[in-house]
Amino acid sequence: MSIKTLKSSLKNLLNSYPDIYDKKEEFSVEFDYALEIAAGLDKKSALLGKDISDEQEKYIKEIFMRRFKTREPLARLLGFCIFMGEKFKVNAHTLIPRPETELLVRTAVEKIKINDFKSVLDIGTGSGCIACMIARNTNAQVLGLDISTEALQVALDNAMSLELINKAIFRKSDIFSSIDYIHGEKFDLIVSNPPYIPKHIKPSLQTEVRDYEPELALFTEDEYGIENYEKIISQAKNYLKPGGETIFELGANQSQLVSDLFLYHGFGDIELYKDVSGNDRVICARSL
Ligand code: GLN
Repeated sequence: MSIKTLKSSLKNLLNSYPDIYDKKEEFSVEFDYALEIAAGLDKKSALLGKDISDEQEKYIKEIFMRRFKTREPLARLLGFCIFMGEKFKVNAHTLIPRPETELLVRTAVEKIKINDFKSVLDIGTGSGCIACMIARNTNAQVLGLDISTEALQVALDNAMSLELINKAIFRKSDIFSSIDYIHGEKFDLIVSNPPYIPKHIKPSLQTEVRDYEPELALFTEDEYGIENYEKIISQAKNYLKPGGETIFELGANQSQLVSDLFLYHGFGDIELYKDVSGNDRVICARSL
């Protein structure tokens, strides 16, 4: 079957599920993703009128049938997503990497290059996408931490398939619990995309996130979603080398609160970076 025919038959099917996507173009984006992950084909192949095999067609159809019926996220149905052009394994224990997180990685990579940083700590590494993409794009070694053994297994699989095994390494740790700073285990840079969604807004989240993404990776107990930033910032100086920096991804309306936490705990040179929607998405501060 040609890719075009498959796409239009799925589009017809979609008419029975009008609430799945906010905009029609979102289906096209997901279809291209599925094509790339399931059949290794890019958008151009469709334009060139390429065919896919019967098995590939059946697989992609099944995936979208389930997607439309259950609203399970596409990446979870496929078991993979694309982040910064690379294929990452994901499962029920890992948050699906978001496009916004690219800004966190790009900012971290820039800082590492400018300052010639050699060691990076990624707290709450999940699928390992941040740790891997920093390791891939710099000379630094990245240690990814997670409290979830299952997530660490996924991170390790991703580092292995990207051939980053000595540059991105992983350890089980509840924030800093397994880092031995007293014996000198210190880092140039701490990076984290911690859980930052206050639990009380859970009912307002879209089904894909609310029902399928790991709670451990998403939610905080406090009202503003900042408890993990506070836990990290209040101890970070012990784990940073002199002049070391900390970079976080931020959720909605958190930049002022997190800036204040940094200032209170002896950090300065605070910088904020906006995402494509104009929201403060990444914050960076230096240990003074
Ligand atoms: N950005 C994710 C979302 O909006 C949340 C990620 C996080 O809590 N760190 O669903």
